[in-house]
Amino acid sequence: MSQIDALPPLRTVIETHGIAAKKSLGQNFLLDLNLTAKIARLAGDLTGCDILEVGPGPGGLTRGLLSEGARRVLAIEKDARCLPALAEISTAYPGRLTVINGDALAIDPLEHLTPPIRICANLPYNIGTELLVRWLTPDVWPPIWSSLTLMFQREVAQRITATPGSKAYGRLALLAQWRTDASIVLDLPPEAFSPPPKVSSAVVHFTALPEPRFPANAKMLSHVVATAFNQRRKMLRSSLKGLSPDIEDHLRASAIAPTDRAEQIDLERFCALTRSLSNT
Ligand code: SAM
Repeated sequence: MSQIDALPPLRTVIETHGIAAKKSLGQNFLLDLNLTAKIARLAGDLTGCDILEVGPGPGGLTRGLLSEGARRVLAIEKDARCLPALAEISTAYPGRLTVINGDALAIDPLEHLTPPIRICANLPYNIGTELLVRWLTPDVWPPIWSSLTLMFQREVAQRITATPGSKAYGRLALLAQWRTDASIVLDLPPEAFSPPPKVSSAVVHFTALPEPRFPANAKMLSHVVATAFNQRRKMLRSSLKGLSPDIEDHLRASAIAPTDRAEQIDLERFCALTRSLSNT
């Protein structure tokens, strides 16, 4: 394990502060500081950026972000047992780490940060998708953040980056690909974590596009896509019939055959369909 800072190794930190991993909090810790520094680098140039980290735990990734030059890290951690370990990091990097003890789902920390803002986190798996959807669906676009670098279960990472025709393709892929460039930048086996989870993981990097790839009303697009994939095996003329009495006309006007199924339709045509339905 390399010495990225003068702080003790993470195993020692965990022992000293009694942070035995709790399954209920999705605690699978990264203990290799080389790896956490690598994930921090995958977030891009951190110099001059404020970083939001959700779930710092004992602080492995936090230390990576700070040693890689983040201007400031705002970390939200639910587990109060981690606070003394995080306070040690704060002392080692004066004025650069702020920790909020709370539930990331209940706090909107973005307003406390100054752009440019990047979000980087080894997310607790039980709230990862919900947080991602929130970050991808702000009221105004472009969002306040410029990139997201997030750890997910590999299966979720594949759903985010899926293309039409694949089983993994659905709402998450369309939501992510409409307004960001999203790609898997690192695969990690269960053994990279302590304790090892049951499944493999992957880091996905998202860069916010200045504007959506194709024009469409965000709420309507989300509704159309959710309705289409709710019954993904049905033909669209049937799954979407509740959206308009003239659904077949709207589908044809969007270069979609009424007999097509949701998983065959690319983002461009979902946006065309949304525009057609919005104009009625
Ligand atoms: N970042 C650390 C690392 O890479 O080793 C820990 C990652 S661990 C997968 C997820 C962390 O999120 C845990 O420290 C857990 O306590 C914290 N957590 C779980 N639910 C949370 C919530 N709702 N809000 C904030 N933190 C949460």
